[in-house]
This record gives sequence, structure tokens and C-alpha cells, in this order.
Amino acid sequence: MNQKKDIRALTKDQLRDFFVENGDKAFRGNQVYEWLWSKSAYTFEDMTNISKETRQILQDNFVINHIEVDTMQRSSDGTVKNAIRLYDGLIVESVLIPTGTRTTACVSSQVGCSLDCLFCATARLKKMRNLNPDEIYDQVVAINKESLLYYNHKLSNIVFMGMGEPLMNYNNVLKSIEKITSPEGLGMSPKRITVSTSGVPKMIKKLADDEVKFNLAVSLHSAIDEVRTKIMPFNENFPLKDLKEALEYWYAKTSSRITYEYVVWNGINDTREAIMALVTFCKYVPCKVNLIEYNPIDDGDFKQAKPQVISDYISILEMNDIIVNVRRSRGKDIDAACGQLANKS
Ligand code: SAH
Repeated sequence: MNQKKDIRALTKDQLRDFFVENGDKAFRGNQVYEWLWSKSAYTFEDMTNISKETRQILQDNFVINHIEVDTMQRSSDGTVKNAIRLYDGLIVESVLIPTGTRTTACVSSQVGCSLDCLFCATARLKKMRNLNPDEIYDQVVAINKESLLYYNHKLSNIVFMGMGEPLMNYNNVLKSIEKITSPEGLGMSPKRITVSTSGVPKMIKKLADDEVKFNLAVSLHSAIDEVRTKIMPFNENFPLKDLKEALEYWYAKTSSRITYEYVVWNGINDTREAIMALVTFCKYVPCKVNLIEYNPIDDGDFKQAKPQVISDYISILEMNDIIVNVRRSRGKDIDAACGQLANKS
């Protein structure tokens, strides 16, 4: 049995303590920490300024559970999808999305998902486990490398919109963001990071209490409880009035505008009543709305609403001074678009 510990589960102080306990200098901990995080070393052998003996001690006590890019696919629109193999053989997916001068990484936070949205392919996998902070961080590092390789510049943005519900893996997601934003990690600005949630009120309040500096997006899809519960059954336990209260709390503490993600479907939320309910919901806290194109996931129960309905949404929202963007799908040909991540290939 492998009793070795995942070295990246240790804080910098714990690593420094390990060296002191083993008769070395605490400073050695800083060096190794730098190899593990900002230099993303895959093996102890890579740590060239560490002596052979010390590397052997590390080898005897720890493992580096690095992710591996198992397969990589490129879409005709330039989107890149990675199937990532984790240390225990499970697979998650992450995506690189180029737009103009930017490249955005879309990363996963869980293997499968804790929630049960009827229109999402990931929900069908069920949740198998949470990802560790280093597994999330590694996805970003891998995509950053691909961004440099294919687009000649570093990754500019990160969205937690891959597989899983980030707020159901709260601690690990926050730890990964700490590493991504730290100068000892990738040194990215938190303003370039967006965490997307289906709307877990208690955890949204916790984010506010923790004074996070990244952006928050909420997958709303309906501002009417009965409709939302039908397509996102967990809404029964987290109704819209709780979500509203949590978002008000978030805004009071952070002054950071919310993004609502919203797909318009035939026969579900394509009525005037649905539009007006969204307008009312948008008045609670400063926000913008991203209307997302629907990506069909096989069985065809859900169909994107007619263009006229989408235009009605846009004009009524704009009439009410609400910012609205239409988001086209990316990477559909390789099942890399929103809601399509389901480890198909
Ligand atoms: N669980 C989080 C993170 C996943 S983000 C959340 O729900 O926000 C994935 C985004 O894609 C969410 O806004 C989700 O509602 C949306 N989505 C899911 N399935 C989709 C589909 N088939 N077509 C378009 N968008 C979809």
C-alpha cells in the first residue's frame, strides 16, 4: 500500500517544518515549494538545485499527484479540449477558448457534479469526487502552456464553468484560486477569474464573508420558482428568495456585479411572464445577463427558443437598462461547449 503523502497538500510552513525536522534548513522548504507551484515540477528529479540526497528523502516520503493531459482535441473554431487523467484514473475535462486577443480557461472543480440540472450532460455522470486544489491548479497550468503554444500569449481569463459545482467544493476551489493568484503560483489577477454557481445561497454568503476578489456568475435560467425547480430540481431546497437574499448580501459586502447565465428554451421560459420575472430579478442587485446558446445533449427534450424570443429578451432587458450579451457556443464539434462536458472522448 502506498503510504506516501501528496506533497502539494502541504502548506509552505508545513514543508519548511518537514525540512527542519529532517535536520535541514527551513529555507529548503521554500525552494521545494517554488518547484511544486510556480515551476510546476512533475517529479522530484526535476528539482535541479536540490541535492540528490534531499530529493531521495522527498521521494521516500511523498508523491506528486500531477494531472496528465490524456487526450487533446482542437475544434475548427480554435477551442481546445483536454481530457485530464487524475492520479486515481478518473477523467475530467477542461477547455481553452480563444476570443480575439484573449484566451480563457474553463476548468472543472468536481469529477461529475453534485447537482442535477436536466439540461446538462455533466449532471448525468453524478458526482464521483471533489478535485483537490492542485488538480484544479494543474488544469490552469496545462491550458496556459497551450495558450502560449497555439496563441503566443499567456492565458488571460479563467472561468470555473467546467464540470462540477464549485461552491460544493468550496475549500479546494478557494485554495486553488489562492495559488493561481499568488505570486508564488501564476500571479494572475482575481479580477480575471469568474466562479460560476448554480446558486447555493449559504456558500454565496460565505464567499462574501471571505471577501473574495474574483467575479461571481449565477446560472439562473429562470426567475420563476416552479419553472426553475422543474429544470434544476435542487432549486426546491434553494428557492429564489434565498438566492436573492444571498446575492444582496454578496453585493453589500463586495460591490461586485453579478453575471446571470441564462438559456432560453422552447416551452420552458419563452413567455412574456418569464422575461418580466427576469427583469424583476435583475433589479435586486447590479448585474448583467449572458444569454447562452443552448447546446443540445442527445435526447432533445430541450430546444433553443426561436430567434424572435431571444430578441424579445434582449429588447425588454435593454429597455429596463439591464446589460445583456449573447454568448455563442464554442467548440461544439468536439463536445467542448457549456453543458457538453461528459467524458465522451
Ligand atoms: N455548476 C456551475 C458550473 C457549471 S457552469 C453552474 O451551474 O454555474 C456551466 C454553465 O453551462 C452553466 O451556466 C450551465 O447552466 C450551462 N449549461 C449547462 N448545460 C448546458 C447546455 N446544454 N447548453 C448550454 N449551457 C448549458
